[in-house]
Amino acid sequence: KDALNLTTALTIVLITYNTVRNQKFLRDTPKPKNGIDELIGNTQMVLIKSLSKYTGRNIYAKLELENPAGSAKDRVALNIIKTAEKEGLLVRGEPGWVFEGTSGSTGISIAMICNSLGYNAHISLPDDTANEKLALLESLGATVNKVKPASIVDPNQYVNAAKKACDELNAKHLKDKTIPRGIFADQFENESNWRVHYETTGPEIYHQLRGNIQGFIAGCGTGGTISGVSKYLKSRFRTRKCHVVLADPQGSGFYNRINFGVMYDRVEKEGTRRRHQVDTIVEGIGLNRITKNFQEGEKLIDESIRVTDEQAIKMAKFLSVNDGLFIGSSTAINAVAAIELAQSLKPNSNIVIIACDSGSRHLSKFWKEARKVDSNITIDDIIS
Ligand code: PMP
Repeated sequence: KDALNLTTALTIVLITYNTVRNQKFLRDTPKPKNGIDELIGNTQMVLIKSLSKYTGRNIYAKLELENPAGSAKDRVALNIIKTAEKEGLLVRGEPGWVFEGTSGSTGISIAMICNSLGYNAHISLPDDTANEKLALLESLGATVNKVKPASIVDPNQYVNAAKKACDELNAKHLKDKTIPRGIFADQFENESNWRVHYETTGPEIYHQLRGNIQGFIAGCGTGGTISGVSKYLKSRFRTRKCHVVLADPQGSGFYNRINFGVMYDRVEKEGTRRRHQVDTIVEGIGLNRITKNFQEGEKLIDESIRVTDEQAIKMAKFLSVNDGLFIGSSTAINAVAAIELAQSLKPNSNIVIIACDSGSRHLSKFWKEARKVDSNITIDDIIS
């Protein structure tokens, strides 16, 4: 009889244990999603151990490279398309086009999301964009329009070329309704860009670190990420004093704009100002003009830190060798800036950097140089 009681007790303990364990799995394991658009966002964060040990501050990377099309731009592309759907400019189940001018990432996000939602993508981009991005766009079936790198005032500049192509299609649609219409995504000026970072990326970062964040670093391409995230962090009591840093590559005007209030720092030998060109190997960030998405958060940016191509190249190799973090050029810029910011914050402060995309997007250009860096490179070699 005692043996029977013991067996019953053991069975109850085992069933209870399994039930609790299963509930934990159910809680921690995400359910299958209904399409790739549902995989966007909720990216993870990882401590960059090497940089944290060196600086005595906790430096975290927000892994935007986990998004299905490989970058933070998935959030923006989806929000732009969803907003257009709400406005009736695109209709789910009917053909429609999304036009964009982009140096790559946004185009790839648009192309992938368009495929999943049943739209077509038309992407204009500078012809010196890394080959991987071109190949990706073509593989995704996007219509690709390569143009010469040019100033924004040039009608053939990639953003202007995209808008023109969109206008042409819509003019045809007006005459013949069987021709589908399109939208111009306009990531630089479209407010759906910073808003999605305010609504998703910012809150995710805040909650991942339970509001204990003293520093935030991002580069600026359109400005959507830094504006949206800063707006959110500075709206919350616990993070209102979080130090926001814009990490800027060589040749870009944001550094002077934020620190000294002037945009154009490039005065050429002959005395003419270069307002458009950014001479850097780094892709996706750096600009010499003010966009609506940058303006939205400009006042919230506390400081800009300038990072050279050489530092970024060395940092990318360092993080790959020491942390197994294989990152793209803009992330490397943020990581270099994090070391400088760390020095001005108290020990054990938490700093978050955006890891916008992976190194595999940059194999033929940025990583061609980073591959050559000695594997024994140290942080002192990078910042000296
Ligand atoms: N990193 C990469 C690789 C990018 O493509 C971009 C966007 N062009 C950024 C950073 C900057 O993001 P944002 O446009 O939100 O300023």
